[in-house]
Amino acid sequence: MARTHILGFPRIGAQRELKLAQEAFWRGEIGEDQLREVGATLRQRHWQAQRDAGLDMVTVGDFAWYDQTLTLSATLGALPQRFGFDARELTLARYFELARGNAAQPAMDMTKWFDTNYHYLVPELRPDTAFEGGVNWLFDELDEARAQGHQAKPVILGPITYLWLSKTPGAPAGFDRLSLLPRLIKAYRRILAGLHERGVDWVQIDEPALCQDLPPDWLAAYQPAYEELADTGVKLLLATYFDTAADHAALACRLPVQGFHIDLVRAPQQLAAWLAALPDNAVLSAGVVDGRNIWRNDLRKTLSTLQALHARLRDRLWVAPSCSLQHVPVGLQAEHKLDAEIKSWLAFATEKLRELAVLARALNEGEAAVHAALQASDAAQATRRQSGRVTHELVQRRLQKITPEMAQRDSPFVHRIGVQREALQLPLLPTTTIGSFPQTAAIRQLRASHKRGEISALDYLHRIRAEIEVAVRRQEALDIDVLVHGEAERNDMVEYFGEQLWGYAFTENGWVQSYGSRCVKPPIIYGDVFRPEAMTVETTRYAQSLTSRLMKGMLTGPVTMLQWSFVRDDQARETTALQLALAIRDEVADLEKAGIRVIQIDEPAFREGLPLRRADWPRYLDWAVRAFQISAACVRDDTQIHTHMCYSEFNDILPAIAAMDADVITIETSRSAMELLDGFGAFQYPNEIGPGVYDIHSPRVPSVDAMLKLLERACEVIPPERLWVNPDCGLKTRGWPETEAALGNMVQAAKVLRRTLSQ
Ligand code: GLN
Ligand code: ZN
Repeated sequence: MARTHILGFPRIGAQRELKLAQEAFWRGEIGEDQLREVGATLRQRHWQAQRDAGLDMVTVGDFAWYDQTLTLSATLGALPQRFGFDARELTLARYFELARGNAAQPAMDMTKWFDTNYHYLVPELRPDTAFEGGVNWLFDELDEARAQGHQAKPVILGPITYLWLSKTPGAPAGFDRLSLLPRLIKAYRRILAGLHERGVDWVQIDEPALCQDLPPDWLAAYQPAYEELADTGVKLLLATYFDTAADHAALACRLPVQGFHIDLVRAPQQLAAWLAALPDNAVLSAGVVDGRNIWRNDLRKTLSTLQALHARLRDRLWVAPSCSLQHVPVGLQAEHKLDAEIKSWLAFATEKLRELAVLARALNEGEAAVHAALQASDAAQATRRQSGRVTHELVQRRLQKITPEMAQRDSPFVHRIGVQREALQLPLLPTTTIGSFPQTAAIRQLRASHKRGEISALDYLHRIRAEIEVAVRRQEALDIDVLVHGEAERNDMVEYFGEQLWGYAFTENGWVQSYGSRCVKPPIIYGDVFRPEAMTVETTRYAQSLTSRLMKGMLTGPVTMLQWSFVRDDQARETTALQLALAIRDEVADLEKAGIRVIQIDEPAFREGLPLRRADWPRYLDWAVRAFQISAACVRDDTQIHTHMCYSEFNDILPAIAAMDADVITIETSRSAMELLDGFGAFQYPNEIGPGVYDIHSPRVPSVDAMLKLLERACEVIPPERLWVNPDCGLKTRGWPETEAALGNMVQAAKVLRRTLSQ
């Protein structure tokens, strides 16, 4: 009998119940008990969904109050010492302080989870971190699942990946965090033994680091580490996902574990290597249903792969999604407005559970048992292939006419910057912000009532304009040099553009967690992308008309549009990126024509698009850089192009970032204490750069002094004449009071430094 399971379910809730409860808790509207109740209800519902679909076990441990890596740190007893919290006594209030910062301490570092748009809190370890244990939430949740009568399979992030993803800020130079492994393993032993005591049979232990290029000493650490975990009494399913782990299949298969999960959606080619190495008694969990995308599975095709595997492995075959389903929305049942034809091509998490059940049933009972489901799948595949809405002649023709010149500015940066300084007349250390200003309740309500058709288009326009004017006046009062209109009209930086482009579809409730309580609703690119008319010109022109200062146009770049959408799986990502680039290029040209002198093309997702394996980087960087260049390079020398990137490590892709050739790049640096900037300095990044001087994810208002220090540090690696002063990301999640206070201090810091430098 082939068995079915998932690696994880979206925890946030179909209607973002967890987010709403978290935020109510943060505002002091509900207490810890009420918040806990919301979590328990969600877990119960999600386990029940797995059971109802007919899965053989439910997954426990995929829930987290903010982030699963933070929860693991709390479980291990590995909290940053600077907070002074006892992991065993951790309250939810303090748990959130770790994630969000408090009056005394900045938040823990946050970064992207592999190549996804999910962010995890980076474990912050010290040479003396003891891993002596902490919260028992995993055990509690397990008890909960069992009390509900479920066959539970806990999931835990594996020790090597946990350590690989961690940082040791402030550790002596040369300290190797791998040396923490023996102590860490003891903590894992305790956890696994505790699970065994509670009657657990299988534990899924995630080691996605095996899909990255691990250094030899890290690879060598697997064998001794897992030897130590061999006799805890539970069976281990070692899970890899997001890419191939074929080159480590032999190594993995020598470990004393009882099963392996592999991602056969991203990397179907790895199957042969795993089959060749698989020990005789080991389970293979085949990740055949896409956990990262929303397309309905071609069950017939998947079945043909599985049938061959089943013939060979029989009950050692498990059928699973490629990775945790946390990267897709909860279910299609919440979608009432989606076009019926497009909807018939989709499967969200709940539908994917059913796909797994159908696949297993076909294996166990024969295809006849699921005849109707297979026919429905065939029909959906056929209509999608034949639909006239997917390809457009016009777009195809434009793609063919792309020339190399379209990716190049008229002059090199060294020349352009002179022209721009002359034209724009900016002071030394110009100040600016990243684009959005606080999305107040009033703004969100305004957009919502517009969407529901409750106010007239003209009324809406006037009220959005009033918000823009507020933002402009406040920036003028703060004496910021390059202004933004504040993005009041934008729900989301991708959705806003997608809604105005061909080839995009939108969900009502297709929420995916980005970090903590932040959720995004990635649009779905189902067809060729085209911009029928200008998208931001009227708004930007209006904003510019209010002020004599420079108004920065604000667009989302092609790579981010691609990366934060659910993309087509019927053409190369690169082709979709080029279609997006042409659409944005048209917008850039129109903004310039409308008299806008500074245009920012945001690419916060540029790095997360990088393949996990370095060998695959050059190809990605090549097309991603080209897509950005094509979107930007149509402007005159005296029009200044900005780009913005955040929350990632850039140091290893600096040549590509330089090749994008934006005149100014603003980046996140404050959360990692300007660490990033060293890389830009060492690489001698040629263009202008605005390292973020304060963390917008925290409500803390940094002092003039704190920002001045960061700027002075920045001046040590970047010549001041190429430095900009800005926060590290958009301000839409903040309130106005802290925003004004922080920006006031930021402008002050810039002024102080200008004075010092001119002495
Ligand atoms: N311009 C966007 C904003 O300020 C950029 C957001 C981002 O980097 N994620 O909101
Ligand atoms: Zn950002």
